[in-house]
Amino acid sequence: MNFEYAERINRLPPYLFAEMEKIQKEKKAQGVDLISLSIGDPDLPPPDFVVEALVKETSDLKNHNYSFSQGEPIFREAISNWYKNRFNVDVEHDQVIALLGSKEGIANVARAFVNPGDKVLVPDPAYPVYANGSAILCDGIAVPMPLLEDNNFQPNLDVIKPDNVRMMFLNYPNNPTAATIDKNFLRQVIDFAKDNKIIICYDNAYSEITYDNYRAPSILEIPGADEVAIEFNSLSKTFNMTGDRIAFAVGNKHLVTGLTKIKSQIDSGPPVYTQKVAVAALNTYKNCEQPEFLHKNNKILQERRDLLVNTLTKLGYTCKTPKATFYVWVNCKGDSMKFAAKLLDVGVAVTPGVGFGKHGEGYVRITFTQPKERIQEACNRITNAL
Ligand code: PLP
Repeated sequence: MNFEYAERINRLPPYLFAEMEKIQKEKKAQGVDLISLSIGDPDLPPPDFVVEALVKETSDLKNHNYSFSQGEPIFREAISNWYKNRFNVDVEHDQVIALLGSKEGIANVARAFVNPGDKVLVPDPAYPVYANGSAILCDGIAVPMPLLEDNNFQPNLDVIKPDNVRMMFLNYPNNPTAATIDKNFLRQVIDFAKDNKIIICYDNAYSEITYDNYRAPSILEIPGADEVAIEFNSLSKTFNMTGDRIAFAVGNKHLVTGLTKIKSQIDSGPPVYTQKVAVAALNTYKNCEQPEFLHKNNKILQERRDLLVNTLTKLGYTCKTPKATFYVWVNCKGDSMKFAAKLLDVGVAVTPGVGFGKHGEGYVRITFTQPKERIQEACNRITNAL
């Protein structure tokens, strides 16, 4: 029997990454040696101490009961210590909630605060979950904020019409443009949000994947941010734990409480053992310094980044050397679908920018989550193809 989908499902565009996976599976089934530079899933493993902690914590039978909807107190305390250690920001434990991945939190926060017809400002291009998982699935209206190269891929706050806007999503270090942000802009965002009573959902999932001594700020470093903002962060990219589904949100108490109310009706918190592993991981930050593991991890990523950027630059394409994330956002001088298709023909999968929104057209996103040799091979193929 074919049941009709709810209307809101019909309003959803296809999920870009699921489509990409499908195409790649088909290519592989045809025997193509495909190099996937399209999906932001680290190829590098979690650090040894994380794997050891996972074995230990899963073996402890006490760790297999339900957790709390807001997360284990020990995890929330570790998050609060991490904010102090990493950003010099003081957060109380009731300003913290554990998440089953930041994607889940980003989707659920709208359920707590967006009414049908409310406007939700979403960057364009952007991680698709803001518009789809969050705004559309809450019957809200996703209003794109163009991220243009001329404006350093930042939204122009001066042209935003704030009427009926309930929420704004922002994400720096940014996926897909790899742009970073300075605190000056974040100050303007907080002022704008306070003036117009807008909730700021700040996605900081890539705060730890940084290069060339760049340190990504937390929006909570800005005075007054805790009046209007909730920030999402995750162990997915920081500790190469995408499949473990462990993340958190921190910020305005009322926003955290709203999200907790939603989550208490639909899940029971991440597994206790995962939260305990996350505690061990976050506690490796000492004296505001990233742990050795991250230095090594980011150094490996940086070498790959340089390889890609040098190749593309030599070929005459413009792309900024990213200071953060594992993405290169390349101006492909034309139709991004055609460009991606051309590379797919030589067995290199990249993501057409238009898949991230109308203003992503003219760009492709290339991910460097493959070993250096594979990136080198991809660079050779790209050079031949172009
Ligand atoms: N935010 C951004 C910008 C992302 O690119 C991703 C994943 O690719 C996420 C959030 C989701 O991360 P998580 O694994 O914590 O759900």
